[in-house]
Amino acid sequence: MKVPMVDMLAGYPPIKDEIETAVKNVFNKANFILGEEVTKFEKEFAAHNGTKYAVGVANGTDALRMAFIASGIKKGDEVITTPFTFIATSETITQVGATPVFADIDPVTFNLDPKSVEKKITPKTRAIVPVHLYGMPCDMDALMAIAKKHNLIVVEDTAQAFTGKYKPAGGDWKYLGSIGHCGTYSFFPAKNLGAFGDGGAITTSDDKIYETLKQLRNHGSKVRYHHEMEGFNSRLDTVQAAVLSVRLKHVEKWTEMRNAVAARYAEALKGVCVTPVVPANARHSFNYYTLRFDTKAKRDNAQKYLTEQQISNQIYYPIALHLQEAYAHLGGKRGDLPVCDAVMDTVFSLPMYPELTGEQIKTVTDAVKASVSVAVGK
Ligand SMILES: *Cc1c(COP(=O)(O)O)cnc(C)c1O
Repeated sequence: MKVPMVDMLAGYPPIKDEIETAVKNVFNKANFILGEEVTKFEKEFAAHNGTKYAVGVANGTDALRMAFIASGIKKGDEVITTPFTFIATSETITQVGATPVFADIDPVTFNLDPKSVEKKITPKTRAIVPVHLYGMPCDMDALMAIAKKHNLIVVEDTAQAFTGKYKPAGGDWKYLGSIGHCGTYSFFPAKNLGAFGDGGAITTSDDKIYETLKQLRNHGSKVRYHHEMEGFNSRLDTVQAAVLSVRLKHVEKWTEMRNAVAARYAEALKGVCVTPVVPANARHSFNYYTLRFDTKAKRDNAQKYLTEQQISNQIYYPIALHLQEAYAHLGGKRGDLPVCDAVMDTVFSLPMYPELTGEQIKTVTDAVKASVSVAVGK
């Protein structure tokens, strides 16, 4: 049985009428640029996350870049982040004139290891960018404590983790992205809250950062043709905002469904390979479901086997950023970040979307089990 990585159409029929009404409404008003649907969605999104503000932008990459500028990160600064992420996290650090500094990751969560972060701090360090990879919350208590101690800014890359939550020690549950100074989000179709095209947002509870972000996304202007600074053309499209408002109402249910799929995967793969271990103070958003094998050979074998069976799968990410050609000038090499090196060689991700059926899940887990016994038998 063919099983796709994501099925963008599976969740469409139940909300088709709602979406089409919302989109037609925009067409009939023709308020395509920063229409009232954008403001409406921003209010709903901030309310959902428990932040004072949300600013809709063109995509998750721009969200990062503008969050960095609005937080005062600039030329000469160093920004500590994970090497085990999509390049958008680090290329935007470079694009604001700063230097990405890669710290090692935790072998269980695959997220930034606070101990390694602390070792990378220099007098030039200005910020930490935790990425909640696959939807797994970072150790925010430890990272925020380091930030506080060294007076650093924290921008949470929440592109894969919208609806994920974290419970700080002694505090109430918080949505990921609402813990640092800013949270950045992507509405790329395959993310937890996908638009019907590109989209992104930044959340913050800081008045000054909010005002700057609103200017940055619109050429540095508050009043048309009055520019206090240079900015970008990076507004959230009104049609996308209308779609997102509809989808936002359903997203919590979809995350529950993703968690249910994850539970079935974990049950079936017990003892076969390492499945995600979600800490008690965390809610995973399961944008991706990632396995870890004890050897690279087993991982590669599983990947080959699933592909032969027409079961989609993907390695997020096959080459960590410190080893990418784009960062050769930083001099990273194998062995510098040993946990990350070992993890990237042994992980791979299974199909994951809310509507995966029991039959599909069984097909996938049977194939993973079969692949391991083939590898062991060799
Ligand atoms: C998807 C993603 C981004 C970028 O989002 P776009 O909307 O595609 O620009 C940034 N960071 C991470 C971790 C992502 O997964």
